[in-house]
Amino acid sequence: MSGAISPATGCEPFRTPAGVFLDTSTGLWSTEWSGLGGWVATMCGGCVDAGWKVMTETYQQSVAAERHPIVSLYHVTKLYGKRPALQDVTLHIQHGEFLFMVGPSGAGKSTLMRLIYMEEFPTEGQVTVAGFVSSKMKRGKIPHLRRKVGLIFQDFKLLEDRNVHENVAFPLYVTGASNSYIKKMVMDVVSRVGLYAKRNSLPRELSGGEQQRVAIARALVNSPHVLLADEPTGNLDPDVTREILKLLFTINAAGTAVLMATHDHDLVRRYGHRIVHVEQGEIVKDEAAYGTPGVVARAALAAEDEAAATAAATERRAAPAAGALQEPQHRNPAPGA
Ligand code: ADP
Repeated sequence: MSGAISPATGCEPFRTPAGVFLDTSTGLWSTEWSGLGGWVATMCGGCVDAGWKVMTETYQQSVAAERHPIVSLYHVTKLYGKRPALQDVTLHIQHGEFLFMVGPSGAGKSTLMRLIYMEEFPTEGQVTVAGFVSSKMKRGKIPHLRRKVGLIFQDFKLLEDRNVHENVAFPLYVTGASNSYIKKMVMDVVSRVGLYAKRNSLPRELSGGEQQRVAIARALVNSPHVLLADEPTGNLDPDVTREILKLLFTINAAGTAVLMATHDHDLVRRYGHRIVHVEQGEIVKDEAAYGTPGVVARAALAAEDEAAATAAATERRAAPAAGALQEPQHRNPAPGA
């Protein structure tokens, strides 16, 4: 049967009962028709086509069944001076999982992400990410780990004097990749985030939502196994927030685990994904995902889109009426004017 080997990695994929192929080493897909009914999928991280909706549920079930952590923190304490930013934190993020981390400012969310990115190391305990172990980490291995972990921030952190293409290409330049490979990968991820037409624009020529999309594309260009998003919607209005969430869910559906930190409790409630609550450096609650999270999230986003469209239509209908009220003031200037 065709599709037995993932073209993305050359690894033998795992076949789910529904006929969906999942490469167990990476969680990536590519699409092929099996001839046996149902989708055969090995959708590589970049390929999010019409088939992804069909595949997502099966994918998430198979990932959940596999219970394969991509990130583990074991009894991690991080002190700054004598003050703990994190205290005895144990957390596992499964391959392909979407996880919200909520907590007030100063709770320790960014510190936890820096430990996963191995920008910081635990004072006590151990962090394991894609097979890299914090206590055994050598300086030379850090770039290899960073290729498996994408990062996005509230303030985008783009290079202001470089255009979209150059910003996204940057992580590949530093790895010494060939120009043709860089071009192909950058075009791929820039298209995925919907910015192909703006690939030559500078950050200041883009909206906040577009700038965050550039940051997401930059984080994806190395095909990471896990994406860390530190308050990615903190500076964005509700409509743009929804667009960014949709993009993160789509990226997750294609196999990348996503950890998104936010202080916005209301935002995370609606989408069915697991929610870890952090307060004063401790995990105080870990709420499991409910339903099939991809399905719950899509339904919630669709309902929100519909509500936003209805509100916009109501506003449009109300606008001429308001104009009509104001018009006579222009036509009939005050006496003596
Ligand atoms: P959050 O991301 O939830 O807002 P942080 O992880 O940034 O929280 O901070 C957790 C705690 O650690 C805070 O008390 C903060 O002041 C402290 N902290 C964070 N980074 C440092 C640092 N580099 N040096 C000293 N204290 C720090």
